[in-house]
Formats: sequence, C-alpha cells, structure tokens
Amino acid sequence: MTYLAVPIAAKDLKSCKEHIAAACKAGAEMLELRTDFIEGLDTNKLKELIAAAKQTSLPIIVTCRDTAQGGQNNLPAPLRRQILTEAVKLGADLIDCEFANFLKEDFGQTIKKALAENKKTKLILSEHNFKEPIENLYEIYEEIYSVFPDAIAKTAYQAKHINDCFDAFDILREYGDKAIAICMGRFGIISRIIAKKLNAFLTFASIAEDQATAEGQLTIEKMKNLYRYDSINSDTELFGVIADPVEHSISPAVLNACFAAEKMNKVYLPLLVTDGQAGFDEFLDSITARVWLNFRGFSITIPHKVSALEYSQKKGEYIEPVAIQIGAVNTLVIGVNERITGFNTDYAGAMNALTEAMGTKKPLYNKIAAVIGAGGAARAIVAGLVDAGAKVTIYNRTVSKAQELAEDFKCRFAALEKIEETDAQIIVNCTSVGMYPKIDASPVPAKYLKPSMVVFDTVYNPLETLLLKQANQADAKTVMGSEMFIGQAAEQFKLFTHKDCPMDVLRKTTIKALSE
Ligand code: NAP
Repeated sequence: MTYLAVPIAAKDLKSCKEHIAAACKAGAEMLELRTDFIEGLDTNKLKELIAAAKQTSLPIIVTCRDTAQGGQNNLPAPLRRQILTEAVKLGADLIDCEFANFLKEDFGQTIKKALAENKKTKLILSEHNFKEPIENLYEIYEEIYSVFPDAIAKTAYQAKHINDCFDAFDILREYGDKAIAICMGRFGIISRIIAKKLNAFLTFASIAEDQATAEGQLTIEKMKNLYRYDSINSDTELFGVIADPVEHSISPAVLNACFAAEKMNKVYLPLLVTDGQAGFDEFLDSITARVWLNFRGFSITIPHKVSALEYSQKKGEYIEPVAIQIGAVNTLVIGVNERITGFNTDYAGAMNALTEAMGTKKPLYNKIAAVIGAGGAARAIVAGLVDAGAKVTIYNRTVSKAQELAEDFKCRFAALEKIEETDAQIIVNCTSVGMYPKIDASPVPAKYLKPSMVVFDTVYNPLETLLLKQANQADAKTVMGSEMFIGQAAEQFKLFTHKDCPMDVLRKTTIKALSE
C-alpha cells in the first residue's frame, strides 16, 4: 500500500488541530507532523500535537526538519534531536531524520537508542535537494540501507525537466515500499501520482493549495478526484497529454472522467515536456525503455505535434497516412513490444463536428468552403474538407503561408481581407482571432454572414465566440470549437481503449472544464 500522506504544517497547535481534522475529512491515509513549523516548539507542544493526531487513528510521521534541508524556524540540532527521540517515546509510527544528520555520531546514536527501546517506531532517512536532481541517487539509497537496513529511504529533489523523473521511477521499481522518491516542482508532478503505481511507501498531498509544503505537491482533492488516486494499482495503464505549457489543459479532467465512467484501470496525466524535439525524443525513449511503467498512449498538443511525427518517422513506426499528409501527429498509441503508432484525430474530430451540424449524408461534397488561417488546425481541416470533396479557399494574414498550404492540398488561397468577397457555404475559423482574452474580435465582419452559411469556429475559449454569436444573429448554422475538441477526444479514447467513448460524460466534462 502507498500511503497518501498529508503534511500538517502550521505555526500554532490550534491551526495544526484544524489541519488534522481537514486532512482526515479529505481522506488522508497518514499524517506527517512538521513540528519545525510550530513557533516556540518544545516537548509539551509535541505531546499535545501527537495526542491530537492519535485521535484520528491514522499513522503518524514526526518530522523536525533541519533548515539546511528545507526546515522552518532554524531550530538548533539538540532541539531537533530531542523532538525526534521524544516522538519515538510518545509512540509515533515513524520519525523522519535527515540522513546527513543521522550520520553524525551524537545525533544518530541517540536516535538509534530510542528506536531500539521502542520497536514500534520506524525510521525514515531522508535527503533533499530543492535546487536540482540528486545525481548519485542509487548510491544514496544503498548507503542508507547499509547504515540502517530497516530504514525507509527517502529522497526529494527538484526536477528541472520531466525526464529527471525517470531516476526516481527506477528507484521505486527497485525498492518499492522501502522507498520514497519524490520529484519536486512543476516537472515532477507525475512522480507524485505514479508513486502509487510503483508501490512507494508514501506520496504526499496537501489539504489545500496554500498548504503545500513543497512545490508541485497536489491537493488531496486533485489526487483523488482528478487523478483517480484511489483506483491506481500496479496494473494501472498510464496515458497523458504531452504539451508545453500543460497546466491549463482540460484533457486530464475529461479523459479521466471517461475512464472512471467506464471503470477502466487507466489514469491520464499532464506531461510537461520542454526543450523541443530533443526533450520530446528523450521522453519517449525513456518511456519505451521502461515497459513496466505501462504507458499506453499520448495526446500530443502545442508545440509537439510535429515532434511526434518526426519521432515516429525516425523510429520507422507506423503513422496513419492522413497524419503524414497533415504533417502533424496528435495521438500516439503504444502497442505490443512498445511499438508506437501515430494518428491525427483533429481531422476526424473537426469533420464529425461539421457533418453532424449539417445533418446530411454527404454534406461536404462540392460545397464551397472558406478556411481562415494556415497553421496546424487549418492543415487538419483543409485535409478533411478536400478529402470530402469540398472546394476550399484558404484565407490567411500571411498570404505566403496560405499559398504553401493551398499547394500541398491543391486548393485556392487568398489574402485574409478577401474573405469579404466569399460566396462560401461553409466558413471555418482556424486562427486564434476571437480567443480569450481578445474576445471582442472576429475574423469575418458580421455583415458578410448569411443564413445559408455554416460557420464553424475552432476556437473554444470562449465557448461562443463573437463570430459564432454574429453567425447566430444572421441565422446561419453554427458549430462550436468545443465540438471539435469533443470529436477528437472521442477518437483518442477509442484508439486508447478500443471501446466507444461515453459521449455524455465526455461532453459534460468538456463543457464544464471549458466553462471554468
Ligand atoms: P497556429 O499553427 O499557430 O496558427 C495560427 C493561425 O492564426 C495562423 O494562420 C495565423 O496567421 C493566424 N493568426 C494569429 N493571430 C492572428 C491575427 N491577429 N489576425 C489574423 N490571423 C491571425 O495555431 P493552430 O494550432 O492552427 O491553432 C489555431 C486555433 O485553432 C487556435 O485558436 C486553437 O484554439 C484552435 N484549435 C482548436 C482545436 C479544437 O479542438 N477545437 C484544436 C486545435 C486548434 P499567420 O500565418 O499570419 O501568422
């Protein structure tokens, strides 16, 4: 079992007690009493704190962290040593001592003696680096176990790239519940969730964002409700969205809700991959070299759709022809023998959204379509429209880009201003014009919108853009960008699971997440 441990870190006992109650209510499985946070700490306060924590019947760790390793209040070594030995006598389930201090004769011997007299208490020996990854990670774990074989060895280090997490995963794979290995910072978030799959002794979560004791620590609420913590076990399959930035992606909320609705043993993670193609390649190589992590698929978004295509091509993997034609892969599936296949579901998502709104069987054949924009989204939509037999003209601010795209797909192009002259039956906005925060902009002046048109805006933030509002006022049919998102996510779900997506859950969670 991997404990979901919640640090209790407050200046006074009253607040500590409130935090203990809140942690219990939120579903904590272990409490870490960070005594170094308490002002005027002495053994009486420790006694009262432990007594309060014991009322919960949750296992308790007592920590009195040295400032050199992230502690508070600059407490002198004799006091820290006294607090830890007293905690052993008071029946704490575990104490956490910095390994560097444990190696000091007076510190280590006193703690060893207390532990020998109170066999119920276990020892965590820890090493922290708040600046960068710890280089000789294996050696530290080996040294800890050689010095005190019964110890639970813990490291916590700052990840500077998501690829720094793999060393921690290797440690957990090797030592399981005798180890804790946490990567701090925004690049280390996945280590806090994957710890449970790898049977770590514990992982930390906070009762609220402002209560986190380390950067990147998630709240219990997010762990449980967003990342399906309670259902993760060693067989859980991993998925995720590879992006930079990734913090605002709605995909984890949406895909995890769909997995949960179908009772699937899968979890979907936010994967912040930086450093362009090189960072992407190293990440994928590290994943495929570790079959036991059981990553089975990825959504790929800005700025990695081309990196994903190039990675798959370099590795000689199968890529769906339409993804090659579009020049972008937005879905990777890892199959047998860690072979990767690349797909583009933006294409299908957009076409499904459009044809469903038009409601006829062959709605796009011979229709006149205006695509505004010549970036990644436009490429997928132009590919779809041309494939369905529509007559496409691409309008773009930078005309040369429109020309390039038009040449690739054998269609027409024009400058953005020429949209005024369009006789299109279908208009698709594939620019970011109208997107939050500049929501008062539209790429097509209202007076050119007609009731005979179908207007599709790929922008989904806000849900109803100015272009769509004005199209509705002009009695045109409209298609929201959220429908394209829903369509592509449904296709991804199918590729990941070989099952149909629960569309009601997908639609509900998408609209909820986008409305927030
Ligand atoms: P991209 O590759 O960066 O392309 C951006 C396009 O927008 C280019 O054609 C660019 O014109 C144009 N543009 C940007 N600012 C403009 C302005 N002020 N005036 C006129 N044109 C402007 O981006 P992308 O990946 O294609 O994404 C474009 C939009 O599609 C985004 O807003 C995104 O929300 C949406 N999208 C939606 C979905 C979905 O599932 N609904 C999926 C993907 C993308 P230049 O060539 O002149 O720079």
